Amino acid sequence: MIDTDTIDIQKIKESKVKSMDFANLEFGKTFSDHMFIMEYKDGKWQEARILPYQNLSMSPSASVIHYGQSAFEGMKAFKNKDGRFGLFRPDKNIARMNKSAVRLCMPEVPEDLFMEALTRLVQMDNSWIPTEELSSLYIRPVLFAVDDFIGVRASETYRFLIFTSPVNAYYTKPVRVKIERHFTRAAKGGTGYAKAAGNYAGSLYPAKLANQEGYDQLLWTDSKEHKYIEESGTMNVMFVVDGKLLTPELGDTILDGVTRDSVIQLAKDWGIEVEERRIEVEEILTAMKEDRLEEAFGCGTAATIAHIATIADGDRVYELPAVEDRKLSNKLSKYFVDLKKFRVEDEHNWMIELN
Ligand SMILES: *Cc1c(COP(=O)(O)O)cnc(C)c1O
Repeated sequence: MIDTDTIDIQKIKESKVKSMDFANLEFGKTFSDHMFIMEYKDGKWQEARILPYQNLSMSPSASVIHYGQSAFEGMKAFKNKDGRFGLFRPDKNIARMNKSAVRLCMPEVPEDLFMEALTRLVQMDNSWIPTEELSSLYIRPVLFAVDDFIGVRASETYRFLIFTSPVNAYYTKPVRVKIERHFTRAAKGGTGYAKAAGNYAGSLYPAKLANQEGYDQLLWTDSKEHKYIEESGTMNVMFVVDGKLLTPELGDTILDGVTRDSVIQLAKDWGIEVEERRIEVEEILTAMKEDRLEEAFGCGTAATIAHIATIADGDRVYELPAVEDRKLSNKLSKYFVDLKKFRVEDEHNWMIELN
């Protein structure tokens, strides 16, 4: 293992931040000045560097291109108007990256080195963290195989990168979702619980079909019977029925979301009963018909809380209660912004301040 003093730093000659228009950002298209990069070879991580954000070079036979041995993470840095900035629960993302690495037969990234790289990179580029209420610096760690060999086997060399992208609010309006009864995102025994690149490739075609039918996103169901609700697009999903918060229980087909975990903790703190269990599509449809479904929302780092406006199952289309009337999801949204802008007491020590 390499020690954390050995991160080589090469600064950009002139920051691009001055020419930025933070009010008009398209999600995921703008990148900050620097990136972290390191190489895995001869059985160990080495050459840890922070460099100006730039293109990579690799062989046409690099195994990641052919067999998708790759996993990523998604997290955010926040900054308030007073200039205080920090990360939200980075320890969870670091642990999850390593769970994904194990599943995809890749080497884990030492936790302290990962945290050191994140800290240095975000500190160096902190002028890129927008301070607007719903804005943040999205952080993308990614780990992938780079052997120049086209046989199917685990690579012996890997690259680990972290780069960042300033972003504004993700969804501006509540989403329309369609229950997916044919295609599958994740099967038992598969890679659904990992942030494996291939999971997202496989979800694009079904998502495109849903878009063509006028939906923003899918509500994925289990691979065997297409009867139980699993996730919503690339978010975990939550329902409020009869005052209780319901969400599918974790398993190998469901991503263990940091936002999901935080929502469950907050709901419990606020005295709301939480049930993590299998949820049948029929149970939710029945609750909708009987006006007992009070709220439905997706939760994930990109959107934080995404209200669901419409749920469709085949020809049956249901409209949910007005967003203004949704007590829990609105309270959660407000709490998360307040916490990330350092305006409320951080009872769970979720914010890691980097000033
Ligand atoms: C990343 C992701 C989530 C949300 O996880 P967070 O840690 O809250 O960002 C949920 N589902 C899938 C499939 C994901 O890829």
